[in-house]
Amino acid sequence: MGYRGRFAPSPTGPLHRGSACAALGSWLDARAHGGSWLIRIEDVDRPRTVAGAAESQLQMLAAMGMLSDEPVLRQSERDDAYQRALDQLVDQGLAFACSCSRTDLALYHGRHPRCVRAADPRQHAWRLRAGESPIEFADRRLGAQRWSLADLCGDFVIRRNDGLFAYQLAVVVDDAAQSISHVVRGADLLDSTPRQIALQRALGLPTPRYLHLDLVRDGHGAKLSKSEGADALDPAQPLAALQHAWLDLGGHAEAVRHAATVGDFLQCALRTHAESSLIERR
Ligand code: GLU
Repeated sequence: MGYRGRFAPSPTGPLHRGSACAALGSWLDARAHGGSWLIRIEDVDRPRTVAGAAESQLQMLAAMGMLSDEPVLRQSERDDAYQRALDQLVDQGLAFACSCSRTDLALYHGRHPRCVRAADPRQHAWRLRAGESPIEFADRRLGAQRWSLADLCGDFVIRRNDGLFAYQLAVVVDDAAQSISHVVRGADLLDSTPRQIALQRALGLPTPRYLHLDLVRDGHGAKLSKSEGADALDPAQPLAALQHAWLDLGGHAEAVRHAATVGDFLQCALRTHAESSLIERR
């Protein structure tokens, strides 16, 4: 199917500088490869979803000239697909019911090496067996990665004890359903990638290529967070948002200096990025 990329915001607040950077990075990479670029709204975590946030995110992306090539997929409408994946893992003996609480696991620094409490049939989560072998992959920017799930998290939750499917499972099912070949996202998700690869292997799904962008931090060095309303992008200033994102990606101001409109900007940025990738390690 060729290159298929995506930008997948959680609607927990307005997009911020870091989101713009991930959106532009994934868009430029997709377009430079002549590929498709999709938007997916990751509203699987209902309690964290903020009313109206998805619409404002889509509006901001549209103002920046970044439109999904296909209808926007919403995770809140995908429970059946996630349930089928969970059923498959349970049938294969790769997922198990677990009622261990956070407090139970504090002794293990939040990792789950094995159950320390009997599963309660009335309320339990589902976890994937993490296995012993390390997960290796080549990040297109950060290079060779080798992660031990046992050290990172142990057996991890794929359906929560409140019945909601976990982000890790939803992303893997959706990336496969949308035939995503390339994932470009922030480095805050780097340690999710080994979990997602473990799930892809368990489900017999292909693994996309991954590229994790450097995190954009605020003036105090802290990670920007949508739910804390960090530096919300101004929909009235899409060109300024793109220019910031370009600099945050490591682009030179000179390359886009003459761009007076969003359309001009994207053309200039794409031309420069296609000649020599801003984000891939060479
Ligand atoms: N929904 C995640 C977020 O907003 C991104 C997930 C991904 O790109 O895989 O942080």
